[in-house]
Amino acid sequence: MLLLTVCRYRVYVVICLLSMLLSAALFAADDDIVSLDNYFSESWSTVHGLPHNTINAIAQTPDGYLWFGTWEGVARFNGRRFDIFERSSLTGLPDSGIRGLSITANGDLLVAGSRGGIARVSGQQWHSYPPLGVLINKVMVDSIERLWLATEGEGVVMQSPDGSRQQFTEDNGLPANAVQSLFEDSQGQIWVGTAGGLALIDNDLQVSQPFAAELNSPVFALAANTEQQLLIGTERGLYQVDHQHRLSLLLADVPVATLLPEMSGMLWIGTVDRGLLRLYKNQLEQLSIEQGLPNNRVLALLRDKEHSLWVGTNGGVFRLRDAPFTTYTTEQGLADNYVRTVMSDQNNCVYVGSSRGLDQICDGIISNIDLSSHAKGQSVLSLAKGQQQSLWIGTYTDGVLHYADGAVVAHYRSDDGLAANEVRAILARPDGSVLVGTAQGLSLIYDGQLSTPVAATLLPSPFIMALHQTRDGRVFIGSGAGVSVWQDGKVRQLDFTGLDNAEYAFGFVEDHAADILWMTTDRGLIAFDLTTEQLALVGRRHGMPFDKLFQLVIDQQQHFWISTNRGILRLSRQQALDIVYGRRDRIHYELFGESDGMASAQANGGSSPAASLHSDGSVWIATSVGASKVQPTRLSRFSAVTPPVVLEKLLADGKPYLSAQHIKLAAGTNRIELEYAGLGFIMPQRIQYRTMLEGFELDWVLRGTQVNVQYTNLAPGDYHFYVAASYPDGGWSPVAASVSFSIAPHLWQRPLFQLLIVLLVAVLIIAVVRWRLASLKRSELKLKLQVAEKTAELAALARLDSLTGLANRRAFDEAMQHELKRARRQQQPLCLALLDIDHFKQVNDNWSHSIGDEILKRVAATLQQHCRDTDSLARWGGEEFVILLPDTSLAKATEVCDRLRMQVADTSFTEVVPDLTITLSIGLAMLDSNDDGKQLLIDADRALYQAKRQGRNTVVSQDVPH
Ligand code: GH3
Ligand code: MG
Ligand code: MG
Repeated sequence: MLLLTVCRYRVYVVICLLSMLLSAALFAADDDIVSLDNYFSESWSTVHGLPHNTINAIAQTPDGYLWFGTWEGVARFNGRRFDIFERSSLTGLPDSGIRGLSITANGDLLVAGSRGGIARVSGQQWHSYPPLGVLINKVMVDSIERLWLATEGEGVVMQSPDGSRQQFTEDNGLPANAVQSLFEDSQGQIWVGTAGGLALIDNDLQVSQPFAAELNSPVFALAANTEQQLLIGTERGLYQVDHQHRLSLLLADVPVATLLPEMSGMLWIGTVDRGLLRLYKNQLEQLSIEQGLPNNRVLALLRDKEHSLWVGTNGGVFRLRDAPFTTYTTEQGLADNYVRTVMSDQNNCVYVGSSRGLDQICDGIISNIDLSSHAKGQSVLSLAKGQQQSLWIGTYTDGVLHYADGAVVAHYRSDDGLAANEVRAILARPDGSVLVGTAQGLSLIYDGQLSTPVAATLLPSPFIMALHQTRDGRVFIGSGAGVSVWQDGKVRQLDFTGLDNAEYAFGFVEDHAADILWMTTDRGLIAFDLTTEQLALVGRRHGMPFDKLFQLVIDQQQHFWISTNRGILRLSRQQALDIVYGRRDRIHYELFGESDGMASAQANGGSSPAASLHSDGSVWIATSVGASKVQPTRLSRFSAVTPPVVLEKLLADGKPYLSAQHIKLAAGTNRIELEYAGLGFIMPQRIQYRTMLEGFELDWVLRGTQVNVQYTNLAPGDYHFYVAASYPDGGWSPVAASVSFSIAPHLWQRPLFQLLIVLLVAVLIIAVVRWRLASLKRSELKLKLQVAEKTAELAALARLDSLTGLANRRAFDEAMQHELKRARRQQQPLCLALLDIDHFKQVNDNWSHSIGDEILKRVAATLQQHCRDTDSLARWGGEEFVILLPDTSLAKATEVCDRLRMQVADTSFTEVVPDLTITLSIGLAMLDSNDDGKQLLIDADRALYQAKRQGRNTVVSQDVPH
C-alpha cells in the first residue's frame, strides 16, 4: 500500500518529516484534494509487457491511448496490453530509443529519441522526419506549429512547418549544447534548459541567458504554474520566476527531473534520486521507493483524462489513482494484516482486530490498543460495544476481555467457566448481560458472573460465529450447522433444508424497515421474516457469484455490501427484497477487489463483526490483508467517467486490415474478427462493451467485458460496426468507435447473375417439359404401333386354321369375294375345287384322333407345297379342303387337281403310320358368268359327290355348261 512519508519543507528551508497521516487528514479537509490515504497505486514493468523499465516520457493521445517512451521503443497502452513500436519500416525511426513524446495541437503524437529520430503518429499512421543524427532529449510543438528539438550536444533545432530547420548552439548564445528541457511561455517565447543553465529564445529568435548568475547548474525541467510563473527544475533545486521577473528558490537541494503543475495549484515533482514529491500549499510530501515507488528516479509525469497520475521511473510505470477502496495495513501502522474483525464505535473510530492485536482508527489515524498484559498473542477474533463506551474483545486463545477507559477491566477465560477461550461472537444485550459465542458453546456474563445459558448439546453445533438479538428479545445463534433461536429459555433450530442446505451462518443484520433478519451463510443470503418466520434464499440460483457470504452491511444508500472470500459484493437491497417476495429472479451485483483499492479481495468471516458500517457512511471490511474501507458516496465518481473506445483490429479470414477508411473485402470472406479497447485505465478489466453490426443487427448487443467479436458467414453487402464502452453502472461512451466494410458478392451472388440463373432454369424447365411431352407422345405412338401389330397378328391368326396353318374358311370367303370380283372385272375364268379325304373316319378309328390330326397336317402341307402360287388353298372344314384357281380353265384346273390328287396318293406317312395311303376325291366347278359364287360351290360339291360315287381317288368336273 501507499504510504506517503510527509516532510514539511518550507521555502528555502528543508524542515523535517511529519507523519503521513497528519497530512492526509489535512488534505482530507480540503474538498478539492483527494485525501492521500485514498490514493491507490499500481505499477507496471517489463514483466507486464513494457519493452524497457526506464520510462523517459509519457503522453496520452486524444483517442485515449497512453504512450510510454522507453529505450526499447514506444509502448502504447490500452489498459490491458502494451503494443510496442520500435525501429521499423512502420515507424521510420532510425533507433528504438525514445526520449521525448509530445502531443501536437491536432492531437498527433510526436516521438523523438536516439540518433535524432523524429516521427509523427496520427491514428495508426506513422510519418517520420529526416533524423538529426544526435540524441534528442525533448520534443515540443509550439503554438505556431514549429517543432523544437532539444539535443544532447548539438543545441536546439527548430523545424518550421515547411520542414526547414534552424539550429541554436553555444555559438548562438546557449549556455551549453546539451539541452534537456524546453518550454513555451504564454508570450510564445521558448525557454531552454541546458546542462549549463537556462536560455531564452525570444520571438525574434534571439537567444539570451536570464538568471545566468544564479542558474549555472543543469536545468532538467521547465513548466509554468497556474499563475503563469515559470518553474525551473534544476540539478540543485526548484526555482520559480514571479511576475516581477524575480527568481526564487522553492526547494533547495532537490535534483528535479520533471515537473507537473496542476490546475488545483498542486505541483508534482519528479526527482532524480528522491522519488516523487507533491508540493501543495507550502507542504511537501514524498513518495519514494520505501512506499512502493518502483524507483526513486522519476523521469516523466502525466495526469490522464481519468485523473490518474502516471509516474515514469527507472523501474517502470507507477500509477496513483483515486480508488473506491482504501486499505489500512501494517504499512500504515496496523498491528497485523490478517484482520478478523472490524467494528465502528458509531463515533469517529473504527476498531480493527487482527491476529496480532487491536487497533483503533480514528479520522484516519491508527493507534494500537495494547492487550499484551492479558492476551498472549493478542489475536483478536470478535468485538462488541458494551455499556458506557466500553468494549468487549473476543480473542483466539485468551477468552474475552472487557475494556473500558483505556484498560482491561475484566477478563473471562475457560478457567473461569467460559465455554472456550476461542471467542468468535459477542452480544452485549440491553439488560447489561453479555452473551459470548465460542468455538465450544455459549456463555453468559451477567454482573461479572459466568453461566451457561444454553447447553452446548442443545445447539446443532457448538461452533458459534455470530450472535444477534432482535428488539423483541429473540436471540439468533449462528453456528457451523445452521441457526438456532433462543427465546423464552427455549432453543429451536431453523430449518434450512429447502435453502440449498445452508450450514454455516456467518452473520446477521436486522432490517427493521423490511422486518427481516438477513443471514449470511455458506449458501447465500437467507431472509428470515421476523413476523411470519418464513425463510427465503437469495443464492446462486439468482445469480449470486459465490456460495459463501460472510458479513452483510446495509449502507446509507440502501445497498448491500457483502464480504466474501473472493471480493466484496455490492447489490441493491430492493432487488434482494424483490427476490425474497418472488417479484424477480435475478440479482445484479458488482464485485470489488484488488483493482478497486483492496490489498486483497479475500475477506475474513469466521467471527463477528467481519464488516461494519461507520458513522461517516463508509463500509469497513476485515480482509486477509488489512482493513478495507469503501465510501459508497464516492463510487459515483468512478462510474461517472466513460472510457473512450477504439477499434484496434479488424481481421478478415485472419488477415489484418488497419485502414481507417471503408474496407473492401473479397467475395467469399467468411470470418470477420474485430478487436476493440475501452481506453479507461481505472478499472480496465471491468469495462463493459456493446457492439452493433449495422447491416446484420438492428440493435446493440451487450458483450460484457469481452474485447473482441466475431462474425462468420456474413452475406455480401455493406456493414458498419460500432462499439461503445462503459464502466459498470456508468454511461456508454457517447462517441462509439466504428468501422465500415463491405463484402463483395461472388459472381453467383450478384443480382443480375441470379436473374440470369432464374431465367436459365426457367428455360431448362420448359425444355424438359417439352421433351417429356414429346417422349410421351413417342411412346404412345409406339404403343399404338404395337397394338396395331398385335391386332394385325391376331387378325392374321383369325384367318388361319390352327391345325393345318392353311387359310381358314373365313379367309377363303374373303378370297372368294375378291376373286369373284376380279374374274368378273377381267372376264377371266375362275375354278373351284373341293377336296375330301377318302375314308378318313377309318384313320381316326384305326389309329387315333391325334394321328388323324397329324395326317391332316401332312396332307395340308402336301397340298400347299404342290398347288400353284396363284391358287388359294384353304381348309374347308373337317377333312375337306378347297382350292380357288383364278384365271384357270376347267381343263387346266382338272389337270392341276389331278396332279394334286396323285401327289397326296404318293405321299408316304411312314413317320406317323407305316404303309398308309391317303387318297382324295375332288369335285371341280367353273364359275358361270351370272354366278354370285353360290352356284359355284354347289356345282363343286355335286362334282365331289360324283367323285365319291365313282369310287373315290378321282377328280370329277362339272358338266359344262349347264
Ligand atoms: P368318304 O368321304 O370317303 O365317304 O368317307 P369318310 O370316312 O372320309 O367320310 P365321313 O364324312 O363319313 O367322315 C369324315 C370323318 O372325318 C369323320 C371325322 O371323324 C373325320 N374328321 C373330320 N374332321 C377331322 C379332324 O379334324 N381330325 C380328325 N382326326 N378326324 C376328322
Ligand atoms: Mg367328308
Ligand atoms: Mg371323307
